[in-house]
Amino acid sequence: MAKINVLSQHLVNKIAAGEVVERPASVLKELLENSLDAHSTQINVEIEEGGKKMIRVSDNGSGMTGEDLALAFTPHATSKISSEDDLHAISTLGFRGEALPSIASVSQVEVISRPADAIEGSKLEISGGQAQPVVPAAASPGTNITVRNLFFNTPARRKFLRTTNTEMGHVTEQFTRIALASLPTQFSLTHNGRTMYDLPAQQSLPERISSLFSTELAENLVSVKRHDRDIKISGQVARPVFSRANAQWQYVFLNGRYIRDRFIGHALREAYRGMLEINRQPIVFLFLEIDPHSVDVNVHPTKMEVRFANSNAVHSQVLAAIRDRLLSTDLSVPLDSKTLKEDTSSVGGREPATNLSPEEQSQHQQRVRQAMADFFKKSIPQNHSTPPERFSSPSSAPSASAPQPSSSAPSIKNHPVDSLSSHRDHPSPAAAAPTSSIEPDQTDRNSNGRDFGPFLQIHDSYLVMQNKDGLLIIDQHALHERILYEKLNQQLQNGPLESQRSLIPEVIDVTPAQMAVIENESATLAELGILVEPFGPRSIAVQGFPVLLDKASPTALVSDLLDVFTTRAGSVSREELMHHVLDMMACKAAVKAGDHLNETEIKALVSQRHLVERSDNCPHGRPTTIRLSLSDLEKQFKRT
Ligand code: ADP
Ligand code: MG
Repeated sequence: MAKINVLSQHLVNKIAAGEVVERPASVLKELLENSLDAHSTQINVEIEEGGKKMIRVSDNGSGMTGEDLALAFTPHATSKISSEDDLHAISTLGFRGEALPSIASVSQVEVISRPADAIEGSKLEISGGQAQPVVPAAASPGTNITVRNLFFNTPARRKFLRTTNTEMGHVTEQFTRIALASLPTQFSLTHNGRTMYDLPAQQSLPERISSLFSTELAENLVSVKRHDRDIKISGQVARPVFSRANAQWQYVFLNGRYIRDRFIGHALREAYRGMLEINRQPIVFLFLEIDPHSVDVNVHPTKMEVRFANSNAVHSQVLAAIRDRLLSTDLSVPLDSKTLKEDTSSVGGREPATNLSPEEQSQHQQRVRQAMADFFKKSIPQNHSTPPERFSSPSSAPSASAPQPSSSAPSIKNHPVDSLSSHRDHPSPAAAAPTSSIEPDQTDRNSNGRDFGPFLQIHDSYLVMQNKDGLLIIDQHALHERILYEKLNQQLQNGPLESQRSLIPEVIDVTPAQMAVIENESATLAELGILVEPFGPRSIAVQGFPVLLDKASPTALVSDLLDVFTTRAGSVSREELMHHVLDMMACKAAVKAGDHLNETEIKALVSQRHLVERSDNCPHGRPTTIRLSLSDLEKQFKRT
């Protein structure tokens, strides 16, 4: 084994640089954060060749003395925290004291700095981590840092730098994030001598969005504000007509720091659910303020990921803040909105606005309005509680099979009429009401042949009707369960069950074992029309649910399903398992004994009786229907 060496400080810095300094944009981020931490009100950025050649940040902040300047480039030198307590309540952007030494170890740095009360400034040059002595220099108050030839001494990493355009794209993105988070500060950005952004101090958020993105986007924002449970949320979110194919324009800041967070990303999608087309992402500019003690920002080298003490509260607050606001806002396209482009992916883009004549504009707005109206008609989830849909449309099911021959009816002896006689003593008010006994209309009679007569619901549990030979008593739960089972089975033969996205997904707590099942069985679950996503380490969100089962509770069904998978998977065949699962799904989603059904519902249910084979038995093998022929009745009444 090789001899163990203690790495030189220079090498340690170079390794640390790998974590913090990935490309010019990451250098810019660190420098801008330092300038803001130094309370600068004016920050100018100059970039050459996407930052590969030069990155310069000049600020008018607190500046550094010659002594501090030398210290600033030693590892873990920071003016921002001094004790462990400070680490739990970080209010500055930097705190690790590793950015400057890391940057200096892989580039050529020159810093000139002067605190406002110093008579002169100081200058420090470091190349590849080798510092020259600090020397006096003429300077205005503030700090001016120039970083040249990034990765000049690490050719392997220099090779990974992309084209000037790509690197400049990243630089612009970092600049944008910082500029959005510091509205009072004046910023400028030049690239190869050309001014790209010149942002005045004290802009409002929409003004800054207008400067950084486009006026169209700025004109189509809705402001959001909420303060609840120690979480302050404010910002601007785009009307749904403006959206993106990716989540890049989701600017979320926590206590002034740009962050990316899965929980918040999820809440944003939920907030716009039903308002955006599938695969579109909302555009938001959101500022969260939370007591620093309730967040850990020290979990990631670039501090972009954070850990919330209560991520569920953050999720629900963000969701509520935006959703409430969107739902209470007229989201139709405002008439005075200019130059809306048809492709929403480019709307609000950084390309120049097109110029349309007033007539063109109004025609265009008409089209946009129509498109919006059509879109909402399609995308707003249907309310499935209306009676005819309770049993889903029979028209989509295969044509009715021939009625069962009466010979297949169970023998009357096995199903004593005693159960009926007990009902007779307590007639249900519903059963007595004349409205419960209705004539099926002509279409029903035509499509369902001979055993479709007047029917009534008794005790909110059984349906009784006359057929040609006598009468039928149907167990409403057993029949519905059977129909659902057959439909599920049929759908499954032809592909995954049709799934409906939930407006607000239910979140279910799961055990680590169940979580493992979800990961292993995600394909099976998707086949069953159940779309679940991990939602934190110990919970899942049910995003989609089978259309046919819209009466079942997702929470109850998914927990039961997980139990089936945990206990049965492996011990039974795939087919048996699926049979069991469909069986359970059908049972959970079917109407129960005791559910009052109105006329339409009874008709819908009964009219589908022949759509299922062997509908006399529910999946558990219990009968769905008891037939009493006239001759059975005659025997019972001792007429023969
Ligand atoms: P950190 O920001 O984590 O403290 P850095 O390595 O980025 O670590 O900076 C080290 C120290 O240098 C800072 O704590 C600060 O005191 C000083 N410093 C860096 N940049 C500036 C600046 N632009 N103006 C004033 N002080 C600065
Ligand atoms: Mg810093």
